[in-house]
Amino acid sequence: MSTVAIYDSTYESVTDVIEAGFRDFGVSLEGKTVVIKPNIIGPFQVHRAITTHPAVVSAVVKAVEARAPARIIVGDNPGVRGYGSNKLCAQKSGIHDVCAEHYVNLSEEGVSAQTRSRFANRVTVSRSFLEADYYISLPKFKTHMLTIITGAIKNSFGMLVGGQKAAIHRAATTCESFSEALVDVFQIRTPDLVVMDAITGMEGKGPSSDELRDIGKILVSDNATEIDAVMAAMMGLPPSHVPLVRIAHERGLGEMNLGKIETIGPVRPIENFKLPSKLMRGPFGHISWRLLTKLMMSRPVPIRDKCTQCGACEEHCPVGAMKLNPYPEVNAEKCISCFCCMELCTHNALDVTNKVKRYRGRFKY
Ligand code: SF4
Ligand code: SF4
Repeated sequence: MSTVAIYDSTYESVTDVIEAGFRDFGVSLEGKTVVIKPNIIGPFQVHRAITTHPAVVSAVVKAVEARAPARIIVGDNPGVRGYGSNKLCAQKSGIHDVCAEHYVNLSEEGVSAQTRSRFANRVTVSRSFLEADYYISLPKFKTHMLTIITGAIKNSFGMLVGGQKAAIHRAATTCESFSEALVDVFQIRTPDLVVMDAITGMEGKGPSSDELRDIGKILVSDNATEIDAVMAAMMGLPPSHVPLVRIAHERGLGEMNLGKIETIGPVRPIENFKLPSKLMRGPFGHISWRLLTKLMMSRPVPIRDKCTQCGACEEHCPVGAMKLNPYPEVNAEKCISCFCCMELCTHNALDVTNKVKRYRGRFKY
């Protein structure tokens, strides 16, 4: 049976907290090759709290080192293109500094892997995930405009190398279908342990917004589905309303009923936690969110006084819907509302608008 542990923590005390977590879970790594995957979605600095905090990565590395592994590999495949950008993203996030001797550019070691996905028969995965004896996932506690949450299951999307993430976005354009595709990828190699950075979390329009929230927790689990279910509950959402969690549960990958999940520490909803939309509250919130996001055609819109016209949004749009002229403009017919552009804008210069706001003239669009 799996367990989800919820520990009080700060970034100063996190080394002791994670060591205690490793003891609670009886983690034994002698002679093993261990891969550690933080969430490094792009070249974001640590104060933005978009990427896993380097103190958490450092604490996990220390706890692993103390257990005499054969080899430690730390790395991720950020959303940005280009092999050189992999190390740059790790450096910007402060993660490279705390684990330089273990850091590996995972984008240079892709191997083909079979999936059971209707969106892609085969994908290219970093070899380390397939060959490691033990895989530790380090997601952030965050919301997501498309998939509602960004947690442990979604962190595994970073096993994929390079631009194929864009191809999957093009093939799976709704919350439901993209969540299914994420679970397909997650199943290629599920993590043995998840350590979630919920010390500073993100609410509102995640996964790259500036709406941060002091939560003061580290979550540890040997089951990614169950840690995501607990995270959803802490956000004030029934786990079954989150397609990622529901689909993983339906495939037998973990419980989503809180009454059946063994926990260490209480699961308390965070007061007034901001979800990507107020529409998600209430018993039919998940249905109205999915319907309304479709009907209202939520689209990104630039905030001109923040935009530096760097072009990253145009470069990373999987369907070519974003063009600089000289500020970003979105072709509403082409846009699939994947929010990759928002995710990778390092200046937080994209907001989201919908039909109602556009008609009210709140945004120039
Ligand atoms: S919106 Fe962001 S990513 Fe796009 S051009 Fe402006 S600053 Fe760059
Ligand atoms: S404009 Fe942004 S939200 Fe729309 S398809 Fe492109 S990346 Fe996705």
